[in-house]
Amino acid sequence: AKAAGRNTYQMFTSEMHTAARQRLAIENSLRSAVANDQFVLHYQPQVEPASGRLVGLEALVRWQNPDDGLVFPDRFIPVAEETGLILEIGRHVFEKACQQAVRWREAGLPPVKIAVNLSARQLRQPDLPEMLSEIMKNCGADPGMIELEVTESMTMERPVESVRILGALKAMGIGLAIDDFGTGYSSLSYLKLFPVDKLKIDRSFVKDIEVDPDDAAIASATIAMAHTLGKKVVAEGVETEAQLEFLVRHGCDIIQGYLFSKPLSAEDAELYQAKLAER
Ligand code: C2E
Ligand code: CA
Ligand code: CA
Ligand code: CA
Repeated sequence: AKAAGRNTYQMFTSEMHTAARQRLAIENSLRSAVANDQFVLHYQPQVEPASGRLVGLEALVRWQNPDDGLVFPDRFIPVAEETGLILEIGRHVFEKACQQAVRWREAGLPPVKIAVNLSARQLRQPDLPEMLSEIMKNCGADPGMIELEVTESMTMERPVESVRILGALKAMGIGLAIDDFGTGYSSLSYLKLFPVDKLKIDRSFVKDIEVDPDDAAIASATIAMAHTLGKKVVAEGVETEAQLEFLVRHGCDIIQGYLFSKPLSAEDAELYQAKLAER
């Protein structure tokens, strides 16, 4: 029994070492990714089902890793968040989104909002509004071109401070959306205070919306409540006609998901916009 115990212990520590080493490796390569500008943005269309109009594009970051190819955010955002590198990555992402918005405006495409995800740490930066404003000024971007997505759980970590910082961003003319809505236990009284324009229904509720009565109830109640508060609703992760039909029937304003389009490279997103514009 003793021997087995020791083996277990050794295995455990060596696993810990491996995990720690991997983490450190990711952290180091993330640092060089920042220095070498290895982040690219893909853009996922957000469509108004009533008109078929493209109303927004969500910017989703990918890491163009020289060894591993395209790395998705779920594999590096958590490490970036823990190490604080997310602040620098977040600045890069915001700057790229602004530059792209300006390029598309200059190409004469009809205006759509570019939605940019913020991380929890960014939202806790007291000078976030000034910093974003500075970046927009340098790029020649207009705040009306940009929307920021903050998750429900992030805002509820420090609700009072979030109300203040979101208020400052709103006053600058930036659009605001609460992401992953329904997963973060926000209290209705705070929701009323958050100066946001949109709620995004989390993909987990959309997935089984036509078969699971609880998901259906949550989605339709979210839409009704958001409309009462004067906010629009975006459904994310819409993959099927049946999901679309349910959401449209319940008044959902904007649809995002593979049914319309996967996230696209900047080039493909431009073609997508151009094609919609000529209809
Ligand atoms: P999110 O903000 O909830 O973004 C939506 C995710 O769902 C994206 O994954 C998108 O590709 C995926 N998706 C969209 N439509 C569908 C669909 O119909 N079906 C399915 N199965 N998935 C769909 P992605 O790009 O891997 O991003 C994952 C998460 O990483 C994002 O979740 C967001 O939390 C985070 N993230 C992405 N870009 C950034 C960024 O620039 N900054 C920060 N802080 N986080 C980011
Ligand atoms: Ca998002
Ligand atoms: Ca989301
Ligand atoms: Ca989600």
